[in-house]
Amino acid sequence: MLLTPHFRLSELLATSHKSIDNWPVTPETIQKLRYCCIYILEKVRSKFGRPVTVNSGFRSPALNAKIGGSKKSQHMQGEAVDFEVPGVANGDICRWIKANLVHDQLILEFYTQGAPSSGWVHCSVVPTGNRMQVLTAVKEKQSGKTTYLPGLHI
Ligand SMILES: [Zn+2]
Repeated sequence: MLLTPHFRLSELLATSHKSIDNWPVTPETIQKLRYCCIYILEKVRSKFGRPVTVNSGFRSPALNAKIGGSKKSQHMQGEAVDFEVPGVANGDICRWIKANLVHDQLILEFYTQGAPSSGWVHCSVVPTGNRMQVLTAVKEKQSGKTTYLPGLHI
């Protein structure tokens, strides 16, 4: 099932954890996933002129727990997508989204400058009340703990 011209529902449900049931998805969740496609993924694809690789879209609570996602993860509502555009630096994608797209929360995750494909982009959008929040996730060298810094650190 196509959600928008270039994105299938199956891409937004895919997981490498085959043993976990990443279902059911309610009609409301599917509608939210469609928002992600319309307002984030299609816009990014059209701006950079390249296909987008979706790493993670919807996550059932079981899947989210398995991968250690945040307890309030917007992935569980179908409101967030993790993605990359092969050939485009994740930092450049985030810079463009921050300046041009309505979004709820944009996170540049574990990106290293000079390594274009390091990390990934997390972006969420909701029907109303988007916060336009921008964060950079970094892993502390000593503890391995994740810290979220306000703004884009690139
Ligand atoms: Zn994410």
